[in-house]
Amino acid sequence: MGRIGVADLAAKPGERRRGFLAVPGVEPAWEIPAVVVRGRRPGPSLAVTSGMHAAEYVPIEAVTRLTRWVDPESLRGTLLAVLLVNAPGFYERSIYVNPRDGRNLNRSFPGDPAGCPAERVAAFLLAELIDGADAYVDAHCGDLVEALAPFTLWTRAGDPDVAARSQAMSRVYGFERSLGVEPGSVPGAAYASAALRGVPAIIAEIGQQGICDEPSVARHLRGLQNVMAHLGMVEPLGPPPAAPRPMDRMDWMRTDISATYHPTVAVGERVAEGQPVGELRDIFGDTLRTLRAVATGDVVFLVTSLAVKAGDPLLGIGVPTG
Ligand SMILES: [Zn+2]
Repeated sequence: MGRIGVADLAAKPGERRRGFLAVPGVEPAWEIPAVVVRGRRPGPSLAVTSGMHAAEYVPIEAVTRLTRWVDPESLRGTLLAVLLVNAPGFYERSIYVNPRDGRNLNRSFPGDPAGCPAERVAAFLLAELIDGADAYVDAHCGDLVEALAPFTLWTRAGDPDVAARSQAMSRVYGFERSLGVEPGSVPGAAYASAALRGVPAIIAEIGQQGICDEPSVARHLRGLQNVMAHLGMVEPLGPPPAAPRPMDRMDWMRTDISATYHPTVAVGERVAEGQPVGELRDIFGDTLRTLRAVATGDVVFLVTSLAVKAGDPLLGIGVPTG
């Protein structure tokens, strides 16, 4: 029965409102498109964000569709949707970061209202969208240079009841893998900040490489609808989805040099620790590094760009429970 608006965008019962939210203290203006749909009937409030990463198009389209699909006449509670957090990066097709300060918004939480633009955006969203909501979904996909196998992510950090409710949202989303990660495994992520402040939260990921494909959009939308049904805001759309495979952590492999990248595995593929997974070469084609899997598990993230810069991620391995 929490929040009924985002910043100064509030809705009356039975109303759907849209507008742009100006992040305080950021010049030039950082204006975030948002939609609030308040049901005629009381119920929980669900906060949703997309476009934290501006070139992740599948979730942006799915969340936009969700705001148009929800009927305020039959809805219980309030849907609070922020469509494009990284608004300045959208038409720039920014990868990973925002163009104002070069920071990754999903590594900038809990933020600081007196900090750099990314920190101000993070603090604003926590205070004006997430705090006081009953649940939070941060919708993502692989970035322009990433292939990805679908998964949801929740944190075991904080209150066990909040963790259990986050895990339950992760289960109903309908994606193949559910990663329950330890505190601090992704520093500065919005979903973890939300959970630590008592708001059950997940990240959900499907789609990749700047392709806004219909099957991925439809599955992201269904996941969001499933969460709304799980919370009692709408009627279930069908039978519950198959249970996801539980995973305990994501182990990242990064490059220490700028090079060309030649992976030999695909997303979704099972790898064994120590198995060769690709090479880094110089521009003449000489091998600089042979890459070996750092864990046994599924390749869930795979960078697909030939060019990689020192410090960049190369792939992420989801490690199954047990
Ligand atoms: Zn993302």
